[in-house]
Formats: sequence, structure tokens, C-alpha cells
Amino acid sequence: MYSVKEIFYSLQGEGSQSGRASIFCRFTGCNLWSGREQDREKAVCNFCDTDFIGTDGQNGGKFATAAELCSFLSRFWPENSQQPPYIIFTGGEPALQLDQALVDQCHQDGFEVAIETNGTKPLPQNIDWICVSPKADAEIIITSGDELKLVYPQALTSPEQFQDMAFNEFYLQPLDGPARAMHTKDTLAYCLKHPQWKLSLQNHKVLGID
Ligand code: SF4
Repeated sequence: MYSVKEIFYSLQGEGSQSGRASIFCRFTGCNLWSGREQDREKAVCNFCDTDFIGTDGQNGGKFATAAELCSFLSRFWPENSQQPPYIIFTGGEPALQLDQALVDQCHQDGFEVAIETNGTKPLPQNIDWICVSPKADAEIIITSGDELKLVYPQALTSPEQFQDMAFNEFYLQPLDGPARAMHTKDTLAYCLKHPQWKLSLQNHKVLGID
């Protein structure tokens, strides 16, 4: 059974695949925060701006099998497209639910599979695009992949902790919130001083799209 908060079709707004048409499948639940405001202060990750509780979002629901979920996901891709559907599994923490059966079913149905994970949980094999976004002092076990995207600054973590890991690309993304302008300035300064890191902006927020 897969519990999905919401599914929508949009452009990827962040990181290396920014601007790419994507089907987003947001799973419910996260291992670093309950998602309830009363728990935020004592959560491992306390700056989250995503609602990942329940299955009541747009096109959310429970899916009994991987085939059922894939069949539903495929409806969001433009008909007659020559491009294979590009699915981003996100959350919450998608690794709590994304399993080998779902990855295999996606491939069987001709999808390309991406994940945006906090890196603290094991992943199934053969995911086509792995983006790890470490949070606070949570230990990450996924230390290789396509991109590492770090929200910056974070009190309990720094880019230096990740710079030697086996990712193809390294992104810093300004921490959102009331101090976003200052965080953006700090992020720019860090990237200029450390060219290994590229700036990632949340273009969907800048442009005001979903
Ligand atoms: S790890 Fe991601 S989904 Fe979980 S609380 Fe942090 S930002 Fe939110």
C-alpha cells in the first residue's frame, strides 16, 4: 500500500533538473518530523514548509499496488509525448515508501524515476536520478548520487561535511523564510568562494507557480 499526499504535473523548480517537466508524487510521512506544528521545535528537521500529512491533497490517495499507482501517474503526462514520463518521488521522505516493486513497475511502464530524499534511509536499486538533501545533524547513509542539494545555512550542518562525497553535482539553496534575502546573499558568497557548489533557487516560488 502506498500513501500519497498529492500528485501534480509541473516544472521542476530546483537544482540540476530545474525547468524540466515532471510528475511529482508526494508521499505522506517523514522520519525527521511528524509534520505537526506542536512537534516542530523538537524535530530533527525544523524548517520544513511542506504539508505531507494524510492523503487529502490534490490527487492524493492510497494505492494498493505499484501497478495501480503507476497507472494513475501516467495520466498526468501529456498524451503523444515522445519523452518518457519523468516522475519525481518526493515527500515527506519518499524512501519510507518507494520500494523495488515501484521502481521496477515504473521502468516497465517506461517512466524515468527520480527521488528527492533526505538521505537517511536505504534506497531501492536502479533509480535514474538521486538527489540527496541532508537535513540538520541527521546522519546520511546515501553518500553518492546525481546531486547533493543542501539548504543553506543550517545550524547543525555545513557544506564542508559533504564536499568529498560521490555526487556529480553540488548545490546550495538559500533557506526560505523571513530572512531569505540574507540567506541568498550568504549562499551566493559561499558559492563564489567555493566553486564546487552551485546556486539553486526555488524557481517555482520566485515565479509563483505550483
Ligand atoms: S526531511 Fe524534508 S520532508 Fe522531512 S521534515 Fe525535513 S524538509 Fe520536511
